[in-house]
Amino acid sequence: MADQLAVAVLGTGIMGAAMARNLCRAGHDVRVWNRTPAKAEALAADGARVAATPAEAVTGADVVLTMLYDGPAALEAMTAAGPGLRPGAVWLQSTTAGVEAIPSMAGLARQQGLVFVDAPVLGTKGPAEKGQLVILAAGPEEARGPATPVLDAIGSRTVWLGEDGGTGAATRLKLVCNSWVLAITGGAAEALALAKGLDVDPRHFLDAVSGGGLDCGYLHVKSDAILDDDYDPSFTVVTAGKDARLIVEAGEAHGVRLDLAAANAERFRRAEAQGHGDKDMAATYFASFDA
Ligand code: NAP
Repeated sequence: MADQLAVAVLGTGIMGAAMARNLCRAGHDVRVWNRTPAKAEALAADGARVAATPAEAVTGADVVLTMLYDGPAALEAMTAAGPGLRPGAVWLQSTTAGVEAIPSMAGLARQQGLVFVDAPVLGTKGPAEKGQLVILAAGPEEARGPATPVLDAIGSRTVWLGEDGGTGAATRLKLVCNSWVLAITGGAAEALALAKGLDVDPRHFLDAVSGGGLDCGYLHVKSDAILDDDYDPSFTVVTAGKDARLIVEAGEAHGVRLDLAAANAERFRRAEAQGHGDKDMAATYFASFDA
């Protein structure tokens, strides 16, 4: 296949595993590394080569995709990958890392001669599995050739936001989008918690707003999770809490006070302390009640 590339995926959690599978399906030579090896090993059946270290995974890679928990984890993995990195390779950095993490990642890319693309994604587990993520990307023109077959395999659309990945243009938009995602999730959880407290049938609430200006698909997705007591994670409480903190910090750094994001961060912290950290973020519902 003309566009077959050697692609390393560092981090095969909920999102990275789904992205790696789609890269395998698209015919790329995919190498995977994960801190907990079992999650990478599960991808061997899809045709991925399992690497014991980040350096082994990236050796010979045209494109390196990082999909780790946060900026420090991505930076650590890419530092460890150093001995295997090929100058000129493209680093697609898709971890939601936050604004402050961008300069050190862009600096590492410069040191290693990598072409850095700030490339966070919109969409959760389901879209990731279907290859329908929306990728927000900022990076130099020279990255687009090698990056495009990878972006096509993992997403339905790429929104290019300029040529300098080091300014964090894509990450800033990602934080804006996630502030909305977390606001809806927190709002849905609190509305359902209030319904429970007031002895209101939550289905009556969903029915009352159905089809009108207050309705929203995501309200139903998260409400169904709560009402079905099904917290199979698409986006965990722990990861959502990390993102809420990144949003608050970014606001503070730019003189913007974000009370809802701060309240959401506190709810995720409380839900995690109650033992719901690995559940879907809809479990922020539990933060409305004593453990
Ligand atoms: P996840 O399933 O929890 O996966 C996190 C990954 O990071 C795992 O591979 C984990 O390794 C690894 N990791 C964590 N700390 C590490 C460390 N210190 N060193 C090395 N590896 C480390 O999370 P996810 O949902 O796939 O999210 C991955 C990234 O995508 C996050 O930045 C998240 O904000 C972002 N994102 C998520 C979604 C979503 O809906 N889930 C959507 C868009 C963006 P182990 O397996 O060893 O723990």
